[in-house]
Amino acid sequence: MLRMMISIGAILAMGMTQAPLRATDPDPGVSLALAEARAARISDVRYELRFEIPDSATQPMDGHATISFNLTDPGAPLVLDFAGPPQNIIGVDVGGDVTPFRVVNEHLVIPAAALRKGPNAVTVSFVAGDASLNRSADFMYSVFVPARARLAFPCFDQPDLKARYTLHLEIPESWEALANGKEIERTTKAPRTTLRFADTQPLPTYLFAFAAGRFKIESAERGGRTFRMFHRETDGAKVARNRDAIFDLHAAAIAWLERYTGIPYPFGKFDFLLVPSFQFGGMEHAGAIFYNASGLLLDESATQNQKLGRASVIAHETSHMWFGDLVTMRWFNDVWMKEVFANFMAAKIVNPSFPGINHELRFLYAHYPSAYGVDRTPGTNAIRQRLDNLSEAGSLYGAIIYQKAPVVMRQLETIVGEDGFRDGLREYLRGHAFGNATWPDLIRVLDARTPEDLDTWSHAWVEEAGRPAITTDLRVENGRVARLAFTQKDPVQARGLVWTERLQVALGPTNLSVTLNAPTVEVAEARGLPAPRFVLPTGGGIGYGGFALDPASRAYLLEHVSDISDALTRGAAYVTLWEEMLDGRVKPGDLVERLVAGLPGESDELNLQRMLSYTQQGC
Ligand SMILES: [Zn+2]
Repeated sequence: MLRMMISIGAILAMGMTQAPLRATDPDPGVSLALAEARAARISDVRYELRFEIPDSATQPMDGHATISFNLTDPGAPLVLDFAGPPQNIIGVDVGGDVTPFRVVNEHLVIPAAALRKGPNAVTVSFVAGDASLNRSADFMYSVFVPARARLAFPCFDQPDLKARYTLHLEIPESWEALANGKEIERTTKAPRTTLRFADTQPLPTYLFAFAAGRFKIESAERGGRTFRMFHRETDGAKVARNRDAIFDLHAAAIAWLERYTGIPYPFGKFDFLLVPSFQFGGMEHAGAIFYNASGLLLDESATQNQKLGRASVIAHETSHMWFGDLVTMRWFNDVWMKEVFANFMAAKIVNPSFPGINHELRFLYAHYPSAYGVDRTPGTNAIRQRLDNLSEAGSLYGAIIYQKAPVVMRQLETIVGEDGFRDGLREYLRGHAFGNATWPDLIRVLDARTPEDLDTWSHAWVEEAGRPAITTDLRVENGRVARLAFTQKDPVQARGLVWTERLQVALGPTNLSVTLNAPTVEVAEARGLPAPRFVLPTGGGIGYGGFALDPASRAYLLEHVSDISDALTRGAAYVTLWEEMLDGRVKPGDLVERLVAGLPGESDELNLQRMLSYTQQGC
C-alpha cells in the first residue's frame, strides 16, 4: 500500500517536469495499442544493464541501459516505457550519437530521425526509480510484475517483447547478489564489487530480477544440479532444520516437471532468495525465484498444513519455469493461465506426499463457494477479459481467476483425458518455447485431441461470464428409475450458452459419471436402477453451476445429509444445499437446523469448519 502511494506521488511530481504533450503521444501506462504497435515493428531485443547500488538506501542508484533491437519501420518515433521521475533520464544516445528525447506520459520518446531500419542501439543514462526496487538498509530486491520494470529503467514493458539481459551490478564489497543469469565475473576494488551475470534466455520484463544485500548463501547438490538459497535468517538452527527439505522439494518438483513436460529445466542455474516479509508467497523470476521467507523456514511446531503450504508454493513457483517463464502469455489478459497451471501442476506434484489430507474436499471448499459468490451475481465477469492497459492489470484478479479458473481447468483435463491433456501441454510448450502464446493457442492444440468441440466449450467457460442453471428430473416407477435427466439453462436468456461439463453424480449409494453436452441429457445407465435415496449431481465435487435438486432429493438431504458416509459427497451436499438456500429453494432455518444437528457427529475437520462457517453466516 505504501509503495502504491510512493509511485503515485512520483507520477504526480512528473506532471510538473515532463515535456509538453503532443497529440500523437502515447497514453500513460502500457496500452494494448502501444504494445501491439511495438511488437509489429520491434524484434530481437537485448538489454545490457548496469546498476550501481549504493550502501545506503537513501542514495540514488545510477543506471545505464543499452537497448538493442531490430526495427522494421523507422518511420515513427520510438516509445520506451519509463515511469520514474522524468528528470531521472540523464542522457540518450542512439548508435553513439547524442540524441534529443522527450519524457511524456510515463514514456521516453526518441525521434524517428535517430532510428534506422534494421539493428538499432539506444543507450540511456538514468537514475533508477526506487518504486519497484524495494530498497532497505542492508538489501534490495526488484519486483517488476506486472509492468513495474518501467518504474526502474527504460524498457519495452510488455510480455511479448522477450529479451536477453546482460546485467552488471556494482555493489558494496560486503554484499552478495543474484539475478536470472549465473554470476560469471567478479572484480573487487574496495569498497565496491562489480559483478557480471551471464546472458539470460529470452525473458519478459516482468520476469527479469536482481537482488543484492547482506545475504547468506546455502547451497546443495541434488540430482547433479546445484541449488543455492540466499537468505537473511539469523537463527542458524532454523536454517539447518529446514534447508534439506527446501532443497529436496525443489529437486523433486524439477524432476517431476521434466518428466511431465518432456522438457529439461530451461534456465540453466537455479537460485532462490528468501525475502523477509515478501509481498507475495513467491515470485517466479526465471532462475532466481523470490519467496516469502516465513513460508519456507518453518518453526519446529509446523503443522501438516504449513508443510503442505511450503511444498505447494515451491512446486507452484517451480512449475512457472515451464508455465509462464518458458512459454509466456502474449498479454496480461491471459495471466490467469499461468497461475492456474502452476497450481494445477503443484497439486499433482505435492498431493501424493500428503495422503492424510482429503485433497478433493480441500479443493471443493477452496474454490466453489467463492467462485459461486461472484458467478451467481449479474455483475460477474468472464475468466478471460479484455485489458486495454497494463496499468489496469490489478483489476483482473479476483474469485473468477483464482477460484473459478482452476475448476474450469480441471474440467478441461477431465474432458480431454489425463494423457491427452499432458501430451497437448507438451506440444504447446515445445511449440512456443522461449516465446509467447495465448489461451486460444492452447485450445487449438487440445481440440485436436478430443472429439468434443473445445472451441465452443472454451467460449462458454472462459470467454463468457456466468454459470449454467442445472435442474434434475428424476422419475421413479415401481421402485426403479424410469428417467434421470439433467437440463441446463443459460441465466442470460438471449445468449443461450451450453456449458459442457462432466459430473460425478452421487445416486445414493452409487456414483455415475455423466457428460452434460446438450441442453438436456438423459442418463441412460440410470434407467432401471433401484430408486436412489437421493440424486446429487455435484457428488464427486466436480460439477459447477447453480444446481436445483429434485424435490425428493432435496427433502432427503435436508434430513439425512450427515448420514452420508463419504466426506467429499457430504461436503458437496452441504455446498449444494447452501446454494439452494441462497436461491430460495431451501429455508435458511431448515438448513441451519440441519447443520447444527450434524455438528456433533461430523468426523471430517474440513467439513466441520465449513459447517461452522455456514452456521455463523446463516444465524
Ligand atoms: Zn504463480
